[in-house]
Amino acid sequence: MFYLNTGIKEICCGCRACETICPQKCITMTEDEEGFYYPLKQDDLCTDCGLCESVCPSIHKEKIDYKESGNLPKAFMAINKNEAIVHKSASGGVFSAVVNAYCKDNFVIFGAQFDDQLRVIHSHVHSLDEIDKYRKSKYVQSDINDLDIPVWWSRSSGVA
Ligand code: SF4
Ligand code: SF4
Repeated sequence: MFYLNTGIKEICCGCRACETICPQKCITMTEDEEGFYYPLKQDDLCTDCGLCESVCPSIHKEKIDYKESGNLPKAFMAINKNEAIVHKSASGGVFSAVVNAYCKDNFVIFGAQFDDQLRVIHSHVHSLDEIDKYRKSKYVQSDINDLDIPVWWSRSSGVA
């Protein structure tokens, strides 16, 4: 079942993959009465190419559901050794440790931040001095705008 054919909200995580891939640009995300974003298709522009359905993670769970594929991922536990960072973070400060370890030259860091109207949006920075806004989890759906990032991040990212 595909959300754009059924309108069943339970099968749409609001990832925006369908909107991003649509060559006709006839899918837009619209906010519902509870503040969650769902795709809306403009039927008169749709060419029935099927691309939106082909990328929907709710339909292709075999690609992300490890129980179905049998490819169980490894799990790691970690905590930042810097207690001050742990207190500024929500998940043990691991995000800070990872970006410090890997972001040396020519890097870009994507994350979820509050904007000046307290909406959660995705953005990116090129400096470790700017990552503070990505720390702490934001348990609302983030607007990923048109950033080209993995789609499964969109519902609640910012786990930092
Ligand atoms: S079927 Fe193709 S044209 Fe129609 S909404 Fe989906 S991606 Fe866009
Ligand atoms: S691709 Fe994402 S936003 Fe589009 S219908 Fe599927 S789950 Fe919803």
